[in-house]
Amino acid sequence: MSTRVFDLAIVGAGIVGLAHALAAVKAGRRVVVIDRDAQANSASIRNFGFVTVTGQQQGTVWNRALRSRNIWAEVAPKAGIEVIHRGTAVIAHRPEAAAVVEAFVASEMGAGCEMLSPAQIAARLPLLRHEDATACLWSPHEMRVEPRLAVPKLAAWLEAEMGVTFLRNTLVKEIELPRIRTTAGVIEAGQAVVCPGGDFLGLYPELWARRDLDLCKLHMLRLAPQGTGWVLPGSIMNDMSLGRYLGFSELPAAEALKAVLAKEEAPSLDNGIHLIVVQSADGSLVVGDSHHYATTPDPFAPDGVDELMIGHARRALRLGSDRVVERWIGIYPHSKTEAALIEDAAPGVRAVMVTSGTGMSTSFALAEDALSGWLAG
Ligand SMILES: Cc1cc2nc3c(=O)[nH]c(=O)nc-3n(C[C@H](O)[C@H](O)[C@H](O)COP(=O)(O)OP(=O)(O)OC[C@H]3O[C@@H](n4cnc5c(N)ncnc54)[C@H](O)[C@@H]3O)c2cc1C
Repeated sequence: MSTRVFDLAIVGAGIVGLAHALAAVKAGRRVVVIDRDAQANSASIRNFGFVTVTGQQQGTVWNRALRSRNIWAEVAPKAGIEVIHRGTAVIAHRPEAAAVVEAFVASEMGAGCEMLSPAQIAARLPLLRHEDATACLWSPHEMRVEPRLAVPKLAAWLEAEMGVTFLRNTLVKEIELPRIRTTAGVIEAGQAVVCPGGDFLGLYPELWARRDLDLCKLHMLRLAPQGTGWVLPGSIMNDMSLGRYLGFSELPAAEALKAVLAKEEAPSLDNGIHLIVVQSADGSLVVGDSHHYATTPDPFAPDGVDELMIGHARRALRLGSDRVVERWIGIYPHSKTEAALIEDAAPGVRAVMVTSGTGMSTSFALAEDALSGWLAG
């Protein structure tokens, strides 16, 4: 390949890299995105596509989620990305979970959200099992896109309409600005952003080693289409989510719930399970997820973990079918202390990573934060 010159090179075409490409072209820069895979294949297409605001940790993460949700809403129609459903229903089975819902709705983050009684659930959300509910949190803030379609469509739109250059099947071996050595030759760029996701040992491994990262492995599965007229009102979560998602679990009211869950849900907690159910255009349901942390996660996906997840879905929803038609695992990088990292890796090189499994929800705003005031004039 002959040498090509750009203002900004982005390593990684997952959602974090694409979000940086969008922010940089909006700022008028010539951008190249380089990825070693032939097509998107990592965390960014393996997730729920759940663009979550409610439940994100109060402060920076919640604010980034809100801004990113607005950017998704702006970009999705332009890129031909379908928004499959909006909003979230968090069903509370236990009185302690209802107390968390009540505290959340009363908090600053609860603006626009409602606490529904079992009778209101029966009337408004008939697919939820109101007879096993003490309350439900309804949030209008979320969106759901189909990640395996949305991420390629976002990349295609950036290429066709926004002038971003993509180099696929191309591994970045070394960055020594302005030269970027790849398996397809040398690219020249004034600056570079490295967005490697869980693949972080290739470039600047010492940088990440200082951050004490590990990897999180998640089980995901798909239940068969649920039948005509079976349409989820939004994404579904439950008590386990109220005990896990920091926007809920850091509320003082969550202490009692966490104590009860520790006694009653030990098998699920041991596997890091909480419930998310979202629906796809064909009526099938994506159900998850579990969380197993390791430096090198094993590749095995024991059925018992999936059964626990399906059990939570059965308790929350009047399922039309609980037949599993697809299973997969996903991996994301994880930090015990940081939701995301923006690091100066070398002069003119920034490295950006979501380390909390919230990249679909926060990447657009994270990229704006990473590039703001840093892009060369
Ligand atoms: C199962 C699962 C469910 C999830 N659910 C949600 C959800 O519903 N909502 C939400 O907000 N978040 C969710 N997440 C988290 C979200 O998917 C991630 O935070 C996000 O996808 C991370 O994006 P990324 O671009 O950093 O990483 P990736 O998607 O992993 O992309 C990184 C890319 O970098 C490339 N790369 C790395 N090194 C090089 C190199 N040297 N040269 C060239 N290319 C390189 C890789 O090939 C890869 O394509 C979930 C994650 C998983 C795994």
